[in-house]
Amino acid sequence: MIERNKVYIDGEWVPSSGRGFLTVINPATEEAIATVPRGTAEDVDLAVQAAVRAFPAWSQSPVDNRIALFSRLARLTEARADEITQTLVSELGYPITSLRKSQTLGAVEELDIIAESLAQIEWVEPVGNTQVHREPSGVVGGITAWNAPLRSVISKAGAAIAAGCAVVLKPSEVAPLTAFMFAELCEQAGLPPGVFNLVCGTGPEVGEAIAAHPLVDMVSITGSVRAGRRVMEVASESVKRVHLELGGKSPNIILADSDFERAVADGIQDALRNTGQVCGGLTRMLVPRERLQEAEELAVRKANSYVLGDPLDESTTLGPVSSSAARDRVRSYIRSAQEEGVRMLTGGAEAPEGLPRGWYVRPTIFSGDNNSRIAREEIFGPVVVIIPFHDEEDAIRIANDSQYGLAGGVWCNDLERAHRIAARLRVGRVRINGAPLDKRGTHGGFKLSGVGREWGRFGIEEFMEYKSVIG
Ligand code: NAD
Repeated sequence: MIERNKVYIDGEWVPSSGRGFLTVINPATEEAIATVPRGTAEDVDLAVQAAVRAFPAWSQSPVDNRIALFSRLARLTEARADEITQTLVSELGYPITSLRKSQTLGAVEELDIIAESLAQIEWVEPVGNTQVHREPSGVVGGITAWNAPLRSVISKAGAAIAAGCAVVLKPSEVAPLTAFMFAELCEQAGLPPGVFNLVCGTGPEVGEAIAAHPLVDMVSITGSVRAGRRVMEVASESVKRVHLELGGKSPNIILADSDFERAVADGIQDALRNTGQVCGGLTRMLVPRERLQEAEELAVRKANSYVLGDPLDESTTLGPVSSSAARDRVRSYIRSAQEEGVRMLTGGAEAPEGLPRGWYVRPTIFSGDNNSRIAREEIFGPVVVIIPFHDEEDAIRIANDSQYGLAGGVWCNDLERAHRIAARLRVGRVRINGAPLDKRGTHGGFKLSGVGREWGRFGIEEFMEYKSVIG
């Protein structure tokens, strides 16, 4: 049992002003694995004061020093990779083999990309008689989700620190442990006191205190639409800049002229990453009507190939969902789809066999149209719906017929056509023919998926303001 009993404020580990603790549970075993302090608005205020004091010097620090700091952070994180992997597996239930690559090494990669991107920023840009300066936004409040806990802290707090901001971070109460490690790594890397502060706690208590604080210049949240709306509302009182990374219901258009078998298998794999708990998961698979049956068979074959079980076992490919509430929610979506008459091809709401403990859900594939609840709402579980289209126009129409706009996929052997379709999708990123994601690009969404972008140079610039100096 890990006991974290302090918060990190002004470069010191100090007790929270609150008396309570939050328990972290392993979703594969249902056992408590750690406790962390249940922070308070008072802790937030102390952390904000520390950030306000640290900001002037940090915002003026030479960019080369910041580049060196992020390179050191990357190497220090790499040195703790095994410990980070073990911690993440126990918090998330994400199978170890894929987690090591996507979450631990992915975090190291993001730190290296921050260092690389810092060198590319044009800090002062001449325009006519004006010099446009890029300046850090100030004190940033960061609130992160649980599903990629370390990477989310780096994309947010890391990028803000790189921009020259001072940060108060509230990690998700569901998976807070690697945020504590990040604070230790910042300390080890030589980040000055007060530039990064960590206060854990609940959303309504600590998250809202951050969003409401008059000395916080910008708030950035990764989470559900519900939480994002609330943060925007609370932040409006002090008119701060708001950055929202929210949910998705992303379409994957697979054209007849594609490597069809590979496309369907890749689509299912994308949607079932982290047991379907990925904001940009391609959970709506759009296929030509005349190939529907073939797509259904291929999708079922792929979904049934997953091995559910102990995430620490190298042969496991699908872990549990995050909590008993999440399991119940996902299963209720499955039941509601069945009640609505959507055709279920495999999976179901029953508990998977042979797994008496852990919050597991069967990988479930439906075939239907774009109007059912499971095609319109984010489920955040291992559920995919296959939807047929008539022609290219119809595919684009269905893809864009969503309240979300986070990610999308296009599969087509004619690359020009694929790019033409990508240009018409109202989503923040489109993967063509399963190309791997490069975190030098951007991540973020249109519509309910949010406001603003993360990753690479663009993610750092999100935490900046322009200033014109004329003459
Ligand atoms: P969540 O909304 O429950 O929590 C996210 C964070 O917001 C947590 O730290 C939580 O404590 C905090 N929070 C909750 N209510 C709050 C409030 N009233 N005020 C301030 N903070 C509050 O989401 P989750 O379950 O942790 O994550 C899943 C959701 O996050 C999904 O919708 C997923 O799509 C989304 N997500 C989006 C991205 C992205 O980059 N777009 C990435 C990961 C997850």
